[in-house]
Amino acid sequence: MVIKLAVPNKGRLNERAVELLLKSGIDLGEEWGRKLYVMAKDQDIEVMFVRAQDIPAFIATGAIDIGITGEDLAAESGYKIKKLMDLEFGYCRLSIAAPEASGIRTADDIPNGSKVATSFPNLTKKYFKSIGKDVSIIEVSGAAEIMPYLGISDLIADLVASGSTLKMNRLVEVSKILDSQAAIYSSDASMKKYGAQITDVVASLKSVMAAEERKYLMANVPKKKLKEVQKVIPGINGPTILNIAGNDDIVAVHAVIRSKDVYNAVNDLKRLGAKGILTLSIDRLVE
Ligand code: AMP
Repeated sequence: MVIKLAVPNKGRLNERAVELLLKSGIDLGEEWGRKLYVMAKDQDIEVMFVRAQDIPAFIATGAIDIGITGEDLAAESGYKIKKLMDLEFGYCRLSIAAPEASGIRTADDIPNGSKVATSFPNLTKKYFKSIGKDVSIIEVSGAAEIMPYLGISDLIADLVASGSTLKMNRLVEVSKILDSQAAIYSSDASMKKYGAQITDVVASLKSVMAAEERKYLMANVPKKKLKEVQKVIPGINGPTILNIAGNDDIVAVHAVIRSKDVYNAVNDLKRLGAKGILTLSIDRLVE
């Protein structure tokens, strides 16, 4: 049976979401940039390109079975959808910010009756309720940063990553409502119908993310140094040791190691007398 998978059609989450699908072997063909939906080649997956904001509603209503979107958008939508896995990109936070000149530095400083401009009215309302402040929410569809300058609001609640946009607009971050990153979501109903297929998609994305952080390392090492070599490259289940034809003193070791350990591992292996050291990228790693 064909499952429907949605990814953001543009914006910050689009590029990496598509990259994860392609790297996991979901073949979108040639036309995916222009078409709003494509049938993956040789797989029972139809990939739809829709607005990131709409994905939670589409999942909740059963229009799609699985989708990649931001945690912020899922939370704001209020729909009961099921997060299957964090995707470790699109990191940001929804925060309250105030004009530098306002003197407001913490949530306690925010006076009751303040006007807060945001495109996240539900989360913002909930937050102020939770801290017992009575504010009025002004819903905007974007560019919240300009609202205090225009005198439309006293504060904003908006997404922050580096904080440079706030700074540029002379705003200071006052408090955080929520941390967010991209994640993959489904619904109970779709999981019930297509559980195995959905689990396969999630496992594929996971294997791509795991592989990106690792390298395959090969080296020829003196047999007598094997114990020390094993300490340098422990591998997933320990390194694979292979005999080299016609050479009793040297063995080949193969191991999967974390990319961040490659620099030290290669230098340590050289010191132990290793020769022919190679590191290779891995496409998928299923542990
Ligand atoms: P878009 O407006 O389509 O570019 O996507 C907005 C979504 O990207 C947000 O809802 C977040 O999930 C995510 N995102 C990640 N970093 C940021 C950021 N610095 N500013 C805004 N959105 C971000």
